[in-house]
Amino acid sequence: MAYIIAEPCIDTLDKSCVEVCPVDCIYEIEGADQLFIHPEDCIDCGACVDPCPVDAIYEEDELPDKWKQFIEKNKNVFPDLRNPPEGEKIVSNPPYEK
Ligand code: SF4
Ligand code: SF4
Repeated sequence: MAYIIAEPCIDTLDKSCVEVCPVDCIYEIEGADQLFIHPEDCIDCGACVDPCPVDAIYEEDELPDKWKQFIEKNKNVFPDLRNPPEGEKIVSNPPYEK
C-alpha cells in the first residue's frame, strides 16, 4: 500500500509534499506532468496530504474512483526509470537510486 498522487498535481508541481516526506520517496521527473510517490518506499505516514495545496494526494484505498488510473501511473513510472530512456532523468533530491 502507498499514497498516490492524482490529477490535481498535474501542472501544479509546487513540491510542497517533497519538503515534508520523511523518507524522500516523492520524485520529480524531468518532462513529467506530475510528481510520483515510490510505491515501495512510501511508509504511509500521511504527512504529505495536508501540505498539498490542491488535494492531490490520497491513501490508495481512499483514492476517488475517477482517479483510479493514477495508481498504475504512479507505480509504473518507477520500473521504467530504473533504466530511463535517453533524455529522461529524475531530478529529485536525493537522486533516485537504481
Ligand atoms: S505518505 Fe509519508 S512516506 Fe508516503 S509519500 Fe507521503 S510523506 Fe512520504
Ligand atoms: S504538493 Fe500536491 S500539487 Fe504540489 S507537487 Fe506535491 S502532489 Fe503535486
